[in-house]
Amino acid sequence: MIKRVGNFTIKTLSSMAPSQYYLALYCPYKLILANAFKFNPLLPLNANAYFGSIIHKMIELISKNVVVDEKTFSINWNSLINSKETELREKGLESIVPIKYFVNDFALKKNQVKAIMHKRTASTKYLKDKSSNTYYTEKRLENQNKTIIGVADLIIENDLGVIILDFKSGKVYSNSVEENKETELVVKKEYEMQLKLYAHLYYLMNSKYPQALFIVTLSNDFIEVKFKEYECKEIYSEVLEFLAKVNLAIINEDFDKIAEPSAQNCKYCLYRPACNYYSTWLINNFEYVNDLSGILINITPFNNETIGIQLYMGDKRILINGLSILLKGTLNSLIGKNITLYNLKKAKQTLNATANNFTVVYES
Ligand code: SF4
Repeated sequence: MIKRVGNFTIKTLSSMAPSQYYLALYCPYKLILANAFKFNPLLPLNANAYFGSIIHKMIELISKNVVVDEKTFSINWNSLINSKETELREKGLESIVPIKYFVNDFALKKNQVKAIMHKRTASTKYLKDKSSNTYYTEKRLENQNKTIIGVADLIIENDLGVIILDFKSGKVYSNSVEENKETELVVKKEYEMQLKLYAHLYYLMNSKYPQALFIVTLSNDFIEVKFKEYECKEIYSEVLEFLAKVNLAIINEDFDKIAEPSAQNCKYCLYRPACNYYSTWLINNFEYVNDLSGILINITPFNNETIGIQLYMGDKRILINGLSILLKGTLNSLIGKNITLYNLKKAKQTLNATANNFTVVYES
């Protein structure tokens, strides 16, 4: 299917989530586009991201005591996989179904979730006496005027205080730093900020800060995110300021100041097809990303049910192979027009590229 972005309306942001702040910092325009499309991505995520949402849901069900044994595990796991695969088919992503063949370490991750179910929750000093714990899953945290709203995966209250936990199914550490000749792992900045914001929102709702913040990984590690109360307050003030700045740019239609196209910012931005800053940037920087844009000049069918196309990008002629033969009819009608192909596999040291399961074509 060849897609078209169509008209969309940019509106001021009524609120933002702690999990969005860090990514939007580098290009606030990304948040504006996401809001305009009601956070429905214009490009597919990778298979691991879709799988991550299944894992996250399973851990939530374990926390809620819905998944407690092999039988309930199996029922819920299969149901989540089936509905995710239906969703993928509806999105035109049947090429990554069954999902188990397209994600990294499917069996290992499934077993890790099962191990979490068997071990149940925490082994931290804050949860010594389990009988006094009260668990709140998917707990909404917000400020008074509801401009910052987040959902903490799990909040546990007991006689020792309150702890906030967030589950992460992917990589938790950004890198390691050398300190006193020892290597120290550093939690990703976005996760640290997210939890500190949760801590401040919790304070605003309850007039007290939590005792501790934890990231819980798939291997059931509890990674403590240390915090000082003033840090949480500072991040919260920064987010309010950021939200006001973005809304002012929207009101003044002054997007030039907040759109920041670059390989690092744009490579995985799911709103690239709607971003005119990206389209302009891509013309001179296509070698740094996996997208190509140009005038369609030729279509060649091959025997293996695929087609190859040729594009003119300025004075350069580019070949792209591996597209489904099903696109031939629509592409024929676009000869002479500009199209953009996202998520290609580029050949090294040439301009040529190959389509894959995640390639999407947009009429420009
Ligand atoms: S494509 Fe790049 S410039 Fe455009 S919104 Fe996304 S990150 Fe920002």
